[in-house]
Amino acid sequence: MEKKNFHVVLKSRPGEDNEPSESNFSFEEVPFPPEPPKDGEVLIRNEYLSLDPALRCAMNRDTGVSYLKAWEIGETLSGFGGVGTIVSSGDPNYIPGDLVTAFYHWPWKVYFIISSSSVRKIPVEISAISPTICLNLTGLTGLTAYLGVREKAHVIKGANQTMVVSGAAGATGSVAGQVAKAEGCDKVVGICGSDTKCQILTEELGFHAAINYKTESVTARLQQICPEGVDIYFDNVGGSISDEVIRLMNPDSHVVLCGQISLYNKNVPYPPPLSEEISAILKERNITRERFLVLNYADKFDSSVEELLKLIVAGKIKAKETVEMGLANVGRAFVSMMTGGNIGKQLVKVTEQ
Ligand code: NDP
Repeated sequence: MEKKNFHVVLKSRPGEDNEPSESNFSFEEVPFPPEPPKDGEVLIRNEYLSLDPALRCAMNRDTGVSYLKAWEIGETLSGFGGVGTIVSSGDPNYIPGDLVTAFYHWPWKVYFIISSSSVRKIPVEISAISPTICLNLTGLTGLTAYLGVREKAHVIKGANQTMVVSGAAGATGSVAGQVAKAEGCDKVVGICGSDTKCQILTEELGFHAAINYKTESVTARLQQICPEGVDIYFDNVGGSISDEVIRLMNPDSHVVLCGQISLYNKNVPYPPPLSEEISAILKERNITRERFLVLNYADKFDSSVEELLKLIVAGKIKAKETVEMGLANVGRAFVSMMTGGNIGKQLVKVTEQ
């Protein structure tokens, strides 16, 4: 029987000032790759895709960031990572059935050929837990959380610090809060977009408190939960939520400038400019707010994955994930993630044969 193959392409751009929609994506049949793969290449069957908010920038003609290329209309899309199974191999280091992953350039195609040097085997200690861990806790978002806290948060054990995390129930935020606690941060408060998310943060992931920014006043609740002020702010969202947190920050405190998702559908540079009032607060209170990009710390990925694995095994960090079934539904999953439909890491399970 002839093997079928499918991919996802960009059908249209949403426009820099618009929200993306499912209709921007198209799911199409494509030829099965030629077999066997050449020397140094592997044929992969896609199992899972990672979806990441930064890909919203790839939908624009110009991404505005150096680390990401704009998607072209009609080309096979690719994202930041995935999990696949080796079908056939032109590299003796890989055999059919091996589970592999990559941090970057993962095609949104069911079967694809790729250079064997751009993938790596999933270690058994990870696949024994779940292969999707390597797109989540030990993937780019887990590393962002871990390295963001380690490099920019200035957590000092025993110093009675309070950290606030926005986008707290998402892939990065949920791990950042757990890592900060494991590092010795005394109080971790999450800001997110639903009561269910708040409940998961406090009852499952060990956050001290959580605020639903859609139904509660962020300022009033923060004043109540942390009258001692905020020492660290792990910022995933930017905009008015971040302004409210920064107003309550202590002198010599730290903002981890991780992401600004509330402004990704607006035509503004990254990082978006702050108001005069907020800029003045940062200056007067000597608050650090350095841009953080996980890709700048690639030399620390291997050692950080080892540390993250220790935290997982010790039960100090737990994974949450939301899985959409079917490559055909990648557009729906992307739009859902950009509007808060996910809890933890948004993944797509490739089910098409
Ligand atoms: P998430 O899993 O956090 O998913 C995105 C979440 O953002 C949604 O679930 C939604 O949750 C929230 N959100 C969407 N729109 C808004 C809004 N207008 N205001 C407030 N919250 C909103 O995604 P990631 O963990 O992958 O990414 C989180 C952030 O980290 C992003 O800004 C991303 O760009 C950044 N990032 C940065 C990296 C770096 O190297 N600096 C690397 C990886 C990610 P809710 O229901 O709470 O609204």
